[in-house]
Amino acid sequence: MNSHDIIILGGGLIGQTMALALDKHGLSSVVIDPVDPTTTLTTDFDGRVTAISSSSWKLFDALGLGPRMRAEACPIQRIEVRDGADGAPLDFQSDQDDDALGLMLENRILRRELWALLQQAPHVTRKFGQRAVTLDRGPHRVTAVLEDGSVLTAPLVLVCEGRHSTTRAEAGIAVAAWDYASMSIVTAMDHEVDHQGTAHQIFYPGGPVALLPMNPGTRSALVWSLPEAEARGMVKLGERAFLAEVSRVTAGLLGDMKLVAPRALYPLHFRHTAKMTETRLALVGDAGHGIHPIAGQGFNLGLRDVAAMAEVLVEAARLGLDLGDAQVLARYQRWRAADVMAVTFACDSLVRLFGVPGKAARAVRRMGLGMVQRAKPLKDLFMSEARGESGALPVMLKGDLVEPA
Ligand SMILES: Cc1cc2nc3c(=O)[nH]c(=O)nc-3n(C[C@H](O)[C@H](O)[C@H](O)COP(=O)(O)OP(=O)(O)OC[C@H]3O[C@@H](n4cnc5c(N)ncnc54)[C@H](O)[C@@H]3O)c2cc1C
Repeated sequence: MNSHDIIILGGGLIGQTMALALDKHGLSSVVIDPVDPTTTLTTDFDGRVTAISSSSWKLFDALGLGPRMRAEACPIQRIEVRDGADGAPLDFQSDQDDDALGLMLENRILRRELWALLQQAPHVTRKFGQRAVTLDRGPHRVTAVLEDGSVLTAPLVLVCEGRHSTTRAEAGIAVAAWDYASMSIVTAMDHEVDHQGTAHQIFYPGGPVALLPMNPGTRSALVWSLPEAEARGMVKLGERAFLAEVSRVTAGLLGDMKLVAPRALYPLHFRHTAKMTETRLALVGDAGHGIHPIAGQGFNLGLRDVAAMAEVLVEAARLGLDLGDAQVLARYQRWRAADVMAVTFACDSLVRLFGVPGKAARAVRRMGLGMVQRAKPLKDLFMSEARGESGALPVMLKGDLVEPA
């Protein structure tokens, strides 16, 4: 029987970051994931580009990940939001002497560097290509038996299995769940006009279109959400016809375009859990909240879970507490509940607000965008949300490690 401080179920982006955050503070973990990294590290496994908020990047810096990826990430200097391609833009811009609003990072780079650091992490045991066949959460310990017969035990299991988590269901945690009947088309294009670090978000009743800046300045990622049948039809179009559609919905902002990545489809779901903890178990990342990518917040929200959970556990360990104790988990639940609820429902409301068709609805939305454009305090509030800097921040989101007691 192998004993660890924490068992982590799910070694996706969040599970691996969680393990690294614990490792940095000397806490041991074992990460279990049925998918082998030879699959997830291939370049065509995950073609997405993620908007990383500036506070999330500080967590990467604290973990030693940031400096390894900074040169390959593209800073977002400005965000323009429109209701339809002909709507007046609401823009958010970083001050001259200020940091960028965030960074665009290709998921394949993040996966590559996370995996490289995980190999060197002295307190992380990797059990990839393995599944827990049983998970017993007793009053004092959690015990997992894997397919290869190994028996692992820890005082706490962190569930990072993504939005379709089976362990969450087995633990009986209630989930509000619906599908948006929409899919995001994800790809990347080279284009004629330099993006100058601007991210564009254009809303349509069928779903938003996002153009996200990449390196070099003549490359952008596209995330275009559409009703399922339309999205499926759109990816079947030839490249020329597809790009003509992209040009139409983005009012030709980027000039002539050429596809530089395959078109991938992602179904969109909503998942909100009634609570994030159960006996000797806590949900981290998408397992606790699956949201629409409308505002590029899902992963950032999960990183805030990671930073809060790591801080709670490190402080509990230093006080000699049982890491799976109900009081320890209650602190995590209290810390994360409001932020998760606010972001989850704000994203869902945005989808609904911009999904209302018709001229009257559009006029009201455009008036709202115009009001925010003119109200500096409101704009500052949205900017601080986009940067992930609102609320009580765990120390790792300020770029530091948890101080010794
Ligand atoms: C189109 C699109 C664009 C997005 N853009 C952004 C963005 O710009 N910014 C942003 O912040 N977020 C964005 N997101 C959200 C972001 O991608 C997710 O929040 C993030 O990937 C969640 O990571 P995760 O590790 O929690 O879950 P997942 O990535 O789903 O990983 C779960 C892992 O758990 C494993 N697993 C599953 N079941 C088990 C089990 N029973 N036992 C053990 N392991 C298991 C899986 O193999 C997988 O490795 C976007 C999402 C989409 C769909």
